[in-house]
Amino acid sequence: MRTIELNKRQDQILQIVKENGPITGEQIAEQLNLTRATLRPDLAILTMAGYLDARPRVGYFYTGKTGTQLLTENLKKIYVKEYQSIPVVVNESVSVYDAIVTMFLEDVGTLFVTDGNSHLVGVLSRKDLLRASIGKQELTSLPVNIIMTRMPNITTCEKDDLLIDVAKNLIDKQIDSVPVVRKTSNGDLEVTGRITKTNITKAFVALVED
Ligand code: ADP
Repeated sequence: MRTIELNKRQDQILQIVKENGPITGEQIAEQLNLTRATLRPDLAILTMAGYLDARPRVGYFYTGKTGTQLLTENLKKIYVKEYQSIPVVVNESVSVYDAIVTMFLEDVGTLFVTDGNSHLVGVLSRKDLLRASIGKQELTSLPVNIIMTRMPNITTCEKDDLLIDVAKNLIDKQIDSVPVVRKTSNGDLEVTGRITKTNITKAFVALVED
């Protein structure tokens, strides 16, 4: 398995370096009957992807890393802050009815709930709102803090966390999204972003396409 699809020339270069490395770009170009300038983009790609390493005055050599090792290394370089999106937040006193309207207008699957000081107090998922709607309650007068999942049972992440760790948490906890939070000096949590399954899917695709 490979993290990126190599083209024919890149495969040839890899083969040459495997057999002859360390080898200079000039020497690789000679073997392929190409100019050094023609090879430069391919060498850059192979080096960036981690297949080759370049040492000044020595040349290129093969790192021996497999596609899976490189994929793992690259996954561990993706942080929450690169993929987080804007959080949609409602106050704990708003009605279930208004929360449903907000969910449609903002086109999100999860709302984060804050108190009067903008600190995180709960989470509302689509099913939380559906569940509240099948009862006989009056939705316009039922506040969301009655039905939300509340602190301290909220799974959160921070902007400098690894995205792969958040992905594991989504699976373990069987949830669709987590708020990105910043801890205040009092230990309260401010919501600064959100990570959803969609963000993680985007990162997954970018990993292959980059
Ligand atoms: P849905 O229930 O609409 O499929 P989820 O799977 O995200 O959406 O939510 C399942 C349950 O977990 C809901 O009751 C929801 O309130 C709760 N929940 C969602 N996100 C979190 C979170 N980050 N931390 C704790 N509980 C959460």
